[in-house]
Amino acid sequence: MKDRNKGHNFFHYLITVFVFLVKGILGEFVWFFVAASGYLIYKTRVTPYDMIIGVPLMLIGIGLIVNFVWSELLAVFSWKYNKEVCVICMQDEDMNE
Ligand SMILES: [Zn+2]
Repeated sequence: MKDRNKGHNFFHYLITVFVFLVKGILGEFVWFFVAASGYLIYKTRVTPYDMIIGVPLMLIGIGLIVNFVWSELLAVFSWKYNKEVCVICMQDEDMNE
């Protein structure tokens, strides 16, 4: 492979988008449950600790969901970001070190 650094192409783009969407959906799923359980803990309010535990869980969960969604949007709509996080290009770079 000669043009390894300039080799980012539409095929790479599709693979990267696919990887990000799969990882993103899995991550959003996991963090949705974290946020949801935080909300349930917060809602019960049996002890004062329920708020201390529940609110941060919700905030972390929502924050990470937003983060995953943002990464997915960038991977789909930004060619530059897609290139930077490209799984195939990164592997090629590792092999050259
Ligand atoms: Zn690439």
